[in-house]
Amino acid sequence: MDVRAQMSMVFHMDKCLGCHTCSIACKNICTDRKGAEYMWWNNVETKPGTGYPTLWEDQDKYHGGWTLKNGQPRLRATDKVRGFTNIFFQPYLPQLDDYYEPWTYRYEDLFDSPEGDDQPIARPVSMVTGQNIDTIEAGPNWDDDMGGTPVYAENDPNLRGLSPQEREELFEFQRLAFFYLPRICNHCLNPGCVGACPAGAIYKRGEDGIVLISQDKCRGWRFCVSGCPYKKAYYNWNTGKSEKCILCYPRLESGQPPACFHSCVGRIRYLGVVLYDADRIEEAIKAPQGDLVEAQRRIILDPHDPQVIAAARASGVPDDWIDSAQRSPVYRFVKKWRMALPLHAEFRTLPMLFYVPPMLPVIAKIEGGTYEVSDGDIFGSLEQMRLPVRYLASLLSAGNEELVRESMRKQYAVRFYMRAVKVGDVDKGRAEQILKAAGLTAEEAQEIFYLSSLVMYNERFVIPPYSREYNIEVAELGDVGHRTAPQTHKGETGIGFRKPARRGA
Ligand code: SF4
Ligand code: SF4
Repeated sequence: MDVRAQMSMVFHMDKCLGCHTCSIACKNICTDRKGAEYMWWNNVETKPGTGYPTLWEDQDKYHGGWTLKNGQPRLRATDKVRGFTNIFFQPYLPQLDDYYEPWTYRYEDLFDSPEGDDQPIARPVSMVTGQNIDTIEAGPNWDDDMGGTPVYAENDPNLRGLSPQEREELFEFQRLAFFYLPRICNHCLNPGCVGACPAGAIYKRGEDGIVLISQDKCRGWRFCVSGCPYKKAYYNWNTGKSEKCILCYPRLESGQPPACFHSCVGRIRYLGVVLYDADRIEEAIKAPQGDLVEAQRRIILDPHDPQVIAAARASGVPDDWIDSAQRSPVYRFVKKWRMALPLHAEFRTLPMLFYVPPMLPVIAKIEGGTYEVSDGDIFGSLEQMRLPVRYLASLLSAGNEELVRESMRKQYAVRFYMRAVKVGDVDKGRAEQILKAAGLTAEEAQEIFYLSSLVMYNERFVIPPYSREYNIEVAELGDVGHRTAPQTHKGETGIGFRKPARRGA
């Protein structure tokens, strides 16, 4: 067992308002610069929809992430041979039109225009070319709230597995349903961006697993943009280097949550340390598609287990980080309660941002052709929900519908039980039955309710004490006991799977 600590995240989609406050917080702090105008390290998409950049989930188009070839993980976009031939040309990159052409307005015209009969206007101008734009045709959230409409939603790649009847029903006017998907870099355990970079410029930090790009080493070859299936690495056309979300590590090092987490109005975001077994990463990547989520959960370790604690100490994880892992809300949502699921596990990057699926479309069910608020028969209405389980399974569980159902049942059971306890207008005996059928105890229901709704700031964000100076010192002293050079699964450096570095590396 080779225990590492990973800063991990849960986004509770049922609570997301789609207000974009998180996106603006990040834009103001991180990407308000020349060459970064089009970048949204944090963006919020309406689903069903095609997202930003357009159709990012479609790997037939972008060739991102990993696949298995003869049982071995291989990057879709590159390998040793293509790595060299593609240095000057990446064939699968999103184009500016797939993101959008960033613009501003010529506000000065409102003040400086000569007096005349017509009201002056502020014309849109491109922030890339400086030229006037006649018609703005796209933006990072252009299909905002249009998730139920066929105009934008019907090209969502997650709809491919639906039957013609399911698709038709989904776009019936009275069935319209949509939800919000906030996205940042997943700080994956097997990042496509790290595996694809021939310059070795991208790395996972030893102490917390945050994925960073060295601006000194980056050559601007853009393999990371191709390799990341989530399209969360971006090319800065002004500096000629790639950039990505840094999980606000300077804030974390001073005990504060990332800016997008801090600013989240819906309080949907949770942050905490998770301990995992780095020796079993390769096994998790190679799992059959339907077992990928369970395989990822299996390598996440119980921070209360004495054997895990001993192995973590032996790997150099400090006691205050183990304590932090024991209080992690992420561990509880992902492993203990099995309610949070990773986005597109089939990309095989082992993303460490997990999502609690949205409940809204479940509560209503069809009753004689019209929608009724469910009377508690969640198990019937799950099959009749406006957004089919198969759609959410495509998004969150690599197609494994039972995992989505399990999470939905638990959410619904907690809601029903707490209604019985707090309001008393539903039958408590029935609520307890639903709770039991969902595999929860009353105590767990109270705990889930507390963490989902009333929880305080320092329980949503459990940030361990950073000792960055110590880690730098360890690295500088060359303490090999705490350092591991990035390695591919064949023990080589370069393109391919690399086991994450330990603390101090
Ligand atoms: Fe890299 Fe994963 Fe982040 Fe993409 S989402 S940039 S693959 S760490
Ligand atoms: Fe931006 Fe920080 Fe949020 Fe990353 S964690 S998306 S850098 S605000």
